[in-house]
Amino acid sequence: MTEVKTEVKKRLLSGMRPTGRLHLGHSRVVQNWIDLADEYEAFYFTADWHAITTAWDTTEMLRENKRQIVIDWLSVGLDPKKCHIFHQSDVKEHAELHVLFSMLTPLSWLERVPTYKGQLQAFSEKGKDIATYGFLGYPLLMAADILMYRPVGVPVGTDQMPHVELARELVRRFHHIYDCEIFPEPAPVFSKIDILPGTDNRKMSKSYDNFILLSASEDEVNAKVKGMVTDPARIRKTDPGHPEVCSVYAYHGFFNKEEQPSICAACKAGEIGCGQCKKRLMELLNEELAPVRARRAELENDPGMLDDIIHEGNAAAREAAQETMTLVREAMKI
Ligand code: SF4
Repeated sequence: MTEVKTEVKKRLLSGMRPTGRLHLGHSRVVQNWIDLADEYEAFYFTADWHAITTAWDTTEMLRENKRQIVIDWLSVGLDPKKCHIFHQSDVKEHAELHVLFSMLTPLSWLERVPTYKGQLQAFSEKGKDIATYGFLGYPLLMAADILMYRPVGVPVGTDQMPHVELARELVRRFHHIYDCEIFPEPAPVFSKIDILPGTDNRKMSKSYDNFILLSASEDEVNAKVKGMVTDPARIRKTDPGHPEVCSVYAYHGFFNKEEQPSICAACKAGEIGCGQCKKRLMELLNEELAPVRARRAELENDPGMLDDIIHEGNAAAREAAQETMTLVREAMKI
């Protein structure tokens, strides 16, 4: 029996699909990654093969999106000296593990993943058929991504729990079939990440264009804040407001906790105008984004630095992946 489980350092893995530049809401997720990298040996990757599962016909921006998403991570403060940053498609072992897992995974496991049918429906309403072999198998690719690094944990939101569950089930099945103990069962790592609403108070979404990019210029930030949805019942400055329905107020809750209670009171008493309230938010957001912009400019002006970071991250990921694949091939007698 191949028994390899505990010699690996406490690891953690997470990734993002490179589908475009990141917005303010994502900065909270990256901040969580930064915190987790202090505690774990962390592997963070651009999930470019995953992006292709739903956008196989529009790959022309993929390379640029991968570059931009890494710049966004680094601009927010992710430190490449404290974690491994890599591109999924640069570590071909992910594809090998995926194909091997696909041989032993019952079809019903994939068909019952709750997001499968929901996503098919959502894309079909937008006129796109994603009922492909690759899309059905993406949770398995995800399981391969996770298990490749034999991590003890995966940072997840509750909507991703079925994917972690599938990976855990797969671990048990693999060990049972091949009489081995290679993979720890990864535990979900829940972190409290407050969800930033869109600038119109709806869920932040690309299709609503209701977000502020981390790479937004000062003028772009100001224009977005100017267009933010406030209390529609408030016509004059002296009208008593309802901050709880106002997106500007919600943003003050994220970026201006100190002044939020006084803004609330002044709004309710009709003592502050929405223009003034927005102006303060513009100042705060631009203050928050100033160091992010500076770091971005530094990285944009030195493409070699970015290449080196990815090169090192890819090498570390490959080394870990090759160790795992040696064990897997041995267990499967390949
Ligand atoms: S004063 Fe501020 S919190 Fe009140 S409705 Fe206007 S923008 Fe929103």
